[in-house]
Amino acid sequence: MRWLSRLSPEIRHLFSFRTYLNDMTTLGTGGPAEFLAKPLTQKDLVDILTFCHEEGFPFWLLGGGSNVLVPDEGLPGITIQTKGLNGIFWEEKGDSVIVYSVSGTFLASLLGLSLRRGWSGLEFTAGIPGTLGGALAGNAGADGFSLGDLVRNVKVIQEDGIVIDRPRHEIEFSYRFSSIGTEKVAISGCCLVLERSSPFEVAEEVRRFLSHRKGQPRGVKTAGCIFKNPDGASAGKLLDEAGCKGMESGGAVVSMKHANFIENRGSASTKDILSLIERCRTKVFQNSGVKLVTEIRFLGDLSDAETPF
Ligand SMILES: Cc1cc2nc3c(=O)[nH]c(=O)nc-3n(C[C@H](O)[C@H](O)[C@H](O)COP(=O)(O)OP(=O)(O)OC[C@H]3O[C@@H](n4cnc5c(N)ncnc54)[C@H](O)[C@@H]3O)c2cc1C
Repeated sequence: MRWLSRLSPEIRHLFSFRTYLNDMTTLGTGGPAEFLAKPLTQKDLVDILTFCHEEGFPFWLLGGGSNVLVPDEGLPGITIQTKGLNGIFWEEKGDSVIVYSVSGTFLASLLGLSLRRGWSGLEFTAGIPGTLGGALAGNAGADGFSLGDLVRNVKVIQEDGIVIDRPRHEIEFSYRFSSIGTEKVAISGCCLVLERSSPFEVAEEVRRFLSHRKGQPRGVKTAGCIFKNPDGASAGKLLDEAGCKGMESGGAVVSMKHANFIENRGSASTKDILSLIERCRTKVFQNSGVKLVTEIRFLGDLSDAETPF
């Protein structure tokens, strides 16, 4: 750990050694980060990435941990948790609102502000936990709406620490996919374009979107939907028809409420969850011939699990 002494004193205090990540993922699984860094400013994030680049360390980004699976063995190198990078700035211009937000800001905070000020656009994010950075990396969405539709530009930090502004037309967004989420960059912030409406109308829309979540498990440890919906079909329905509901592996179980959710009953490991994912895939393929693709993201050595079969 001699390299620790090469960290500048300004960022050294942001690091901790062998911190368990199970408390930082909504599924509640995952081993320790070799090193965990919690930046508080964009400069911290730049300095951490520059340091990783210069020292040749791998790095992993973690927002709210609500869409990831972390290996039981943990993550090598430096895991950067962005939750401390907060801030929302805005300008109301005619019928539009330009909102700039820092990547660690929770979607719920952005939606809360939208509700108070009567801005329309983010209502579909009601009930989606997680940060803006994580939501941009996977183009989070619901009911046909997704975050990419609102993006004007995204500020990213390249792995060499250089900050660049990426205009919307340089980024590919599609269903639960964003090209930025496949690049080795850290999303530092983003400009969204919303519309001015009224707090009453925004609240009505939020209620409408929340009512669509009644069939999802609540108050249990999950990572949202495990699989993407295939073209023209519902992954949850395919899983249900294949008889996956209630299937168990160790402490993990396919939710009885919604077959596309895996619940950690308290003692599940990432291995248990991976095993259920594979069994569900196989059952759906045998039953319908459809190869499901995961929506949840795999960190560390788990990348093989993203390839179906
Ligand atoms: C109960 C529940 C309901 C959900 N409902 C939905 C839903 O309706 N729609 C939906 O789309 N999702 C849903 N999700 C999944 C999840 O909440 C979203 O995908 C969320 O946007 C992920 O954000 P996060 O900050 O938690 O990302 P994380 O899980 O921390 O990370 C996700 C990915 O983004 C990367 N990442 C994180 N921050 C950055 C950054 N700053 N720069 C670059 N990469 C970064 C990570 O490396 C990882 O690959 C749900 C999850 C739960 C638990």
